[in-house]
Amino acid sequence: MPTGLKKLITVSEIDSAVAKLASQIKRDYRNKNPLLIGILKGSFVFMADLVRRLEMPLEVDFVRLSSYGSGTESSGRIRVLGKMIEPVEGRHVIVVEDIIDTGLTTAWFLRYIKRRKPASVALCALTEKPARRRVDIKIAYLGFSVPDKFIVGYGIDYNERYRNLPDIRYIE
Ligand code: 5GP
Repeated sequence: MPTGLKKLITVSEIDSAVAKLASQIKRDYRNKNPLLIGILKGSFVFMADLVRRLEMPLEVDFVRLSSYGSGTESSGRIRVLGKMIEPVEGRHVIVVEDIIDTGLTTAWFLRYIKRRKPASVALCALTEKPARRRVDIKIAYLGFSVPDKFIVGYGIDYNERYRNLPDIRYIE
């Protein structure tokens, strides 16, 4: 049970990080019409802010993944719930994540995308927890490395709560 929320990343820190990520993506994807695929639900706020900073042609899609098993630990056994609408073959795909913890979910989804023959795949994550990583994945565009705490806010939930917080906090 959460006893309280502590501030971790402020609204203005998020804002500058998103602006920086957007300018890196704009530089790297000029004339490439990238397809940004957000992993639901946590990435919806980050995606909304990111694409509004990307003044360039692009497309957006979302998928919902489900992890088998329960608890807060990721099992790495995953399936896609919401089917992607946009074809991935030949596209420059940017996978947009809210948080990378062990990395198992993201690694699985990157393999899923690569099997569908995209022109390229890169990963953009708002946050990552380096202390918890279990698989090696390259994060081309990273907002923040966070400590090994349970974070919420800015789209990220605790039992569906706190997604609407404008900043990022952690549960004590
Ligand atoms: P991974 O497969 O990288 O271990 O993590 C997958 C999922 O675990 C994330 O997408 C997220 O739903 C959840 N998760 C991991 N760390 C946190 C955290 O600090 N806060 C919240 N709210 N979810 C987390």
